[in-house]
Amino acid sequence: MAKVGHIGVTTDNIFPVIKKFLYSDHEIFLRELVSNAVDATQKLKTLSSVGEFKGELGDVTVRVAFDDNTITISDRGIGMTAEEIEKYINQIAFSSAEEFLEKYKDDKAAIIGHFGLGFYSSFMVSKKVEIVTKSYKEGAVPMKWSCDGSPEYTLEETEKADRGTDIILYIDDENRDFLNKDKINGLLTKYCKFLPVPIAFGKKQEWKDGKYVDTAEDNVINDVLPAWVRKPADLKDEDYKKFYRDLYPMSDEPLFWIHLNVDYPFNLTGILYFPKIKNNMELHRNKIQLYCNQVFVTDSVEGIVPEFLTLLHGVIDSPDIPLNVSRSYLQSDSNVKKISNHITKKVADRLEEIFKSDRAQFEEKWDNLKLFIQYGMLSDEKFYDRGAKFALLKDVDGKSFTFEEYKTLIKENQTDKEGNTIYLYTNNKDDQYSYIQAAKDKGYNVLHMDGQLDVHVVSQLEQKFEKSRFVRVDSDTVDNLIRKDDAGKVHLSAEQQNALQEIFRSQLPKMEKAEFIVTFEALGENVNPVMITQSEYMRRMREMAAMQPGMSFYGELPDSYNL
Ligand code: ADP
Ligand code: MG
Repeated sequence: MAKVGHIGVTTDNIFPVIKKFLYSDHEIFLRELVSNAVDATQKLKTLSSVGEFKGELGDVTVRVAFDDNTITISDRGIGMTAEEIEKYINQIAFSSAEEFLEKYKDDKAAIIGHFGLGFYSSFMVSKKVEIVTKSYKEGAVPMKWSCDGSPEYTLEETEKADRGTDIILYIDDENRDFLNKDKINGLLTKYCKFLPVPIAFGKKQEWKDGKYVDTAEDNVINDVLPAWVRKPADLKDEDYKKFYRDLYPMSDEPLFWIHLNVDYPFNLTGILYFPKIKNNMELHRNKIQLYCNQVFVTDSVEGIVPEFLTLLHGVIDSPDIPLNVSRSYLQSDSNVKKISNHITKKVADRLEEIFKSDRAQFEEKWDNLKLFIQYGMLSDEKFYDRGAKFALLKDVDGKSFTFEEYKTLIKENQTDKEGNTIYLYTNNKDDQYSYIQAAKDKGYNVLHMDGQLDVHVVSQLEQKFEKSRFVRVDSDTVDNLIRKDDAGKVHLSAEQQNALQEIFRSQLPKMEKAEFIVTFEALGENVNPVMITQSEYMRRMREMAAMQPGMSFYGELPDSYNL
């Protein structure tokens, strides 16, 4: 005898609400149902390990199948009794996960569910859903639950030989495109690729007699033990590199990686990779994938990790990030903040460790790391404080220095009238050759700052280094540092100078002519007796403005750099 009941919710009909608002993406129904199947399997494994389930676990592969009208997800997990269906299915937003975790907390079962809403996402694509289930418990009666999307459901006894659950979705007309092999395969690969229980979709195929035919072997789509859930001690460099290739098949080898593994005060595992980041190369941002107990959640982690960390690649897995809620909530969530801070700290630790243990390697990789580290230092004060110990400055001869090391190169007279230390730099060794030579002849070191972010770095360092100014070698303000003595002066009358200045100016780019200062003096032996300089301030303002029209840099990289 079938029981007809009402799903326990306060509103009359919650389904239209679920369909429209619960999830922005219809496709996640498959993720939710496969996660439930995995949870049911993990629960049975836990019960087996504590001796509450004495039967054979046997093959626990979760199977996904489809035909012309349905998609079915089958597991051999704990199944449900009629009472459990009443409790966990008929009451929306009621999950068994917390109770289970509370009861078996010492056994560290990793259960994905906890909101008690996932199952109902099936109605986003189905006109009818059936659950055919048999509990693992001795003498359990198999049950069939059926619901067509109205608040009414039926529950009746049925036939089912094996323990576990089949969820059968009768796909509605608008969502028939889900009844497609490639589509399902794509979704399983996206969301379920690293789930801890084997997920099979059809059979492996082989080429026979001019066509593909099914073999007897399951087509398992996932890796049940991805690198990040294994112990770092069990992994070799090659394992990390292979995992990177699995994630990003077309990418260059990563520079290095960090294996995250925290269980207090929050749970966090993952592997973050430092990709090769070359200047002016298109960067692959937002490659970090976020998982919750090995279920893929998203690959857009803005708001979850600090902006600059989105330049890293890899996987973060945390059951403590509230996943099904809005981004603005995420950003204010205290766990998310703690996780962010922790990751930032770990990244700094790793960089410092490499810097300290193998400076040669660090220097060699600097060009690939520079953009990332500078971006971090510009956008995050704490990261600046850490980075100030290992960030490098390179001079025109290619020598690298830390900030502190570089300060020791400054000469006593390397100051302006106000007593500010002058740091000389060039962004173009060829164009500014004469000025660089002149500075060197005077014994001053010249920094080579031609990176994408260097114009901002220079401004930041001026604030961080006490009483300092960074001045490009060809700027008007350096002349009292590197001007040649009178011997090099060219003697022209004021009129001649004016006339000549006009000629030179007429050839200069038509920006704001006033920025260029044309003087007639020699910088050193064998160099031009005409010197064209620009105001450091004006030029830098212009460069910054060109990078980000009307916006402050902090927190955002300019679009124009394809980041
Ligand atoms: P959550 O997974 O967050 O707990 P769901 O709405 O996805 O919420 O599922 C509600 C409950 O239904 C689960 O907690 C579980 O008790 C039960 N359930 C769902 N699917 C299965 C299944 N395949 N096998 C056993 N129990 C299930
Ligand atoms: Mg669930």
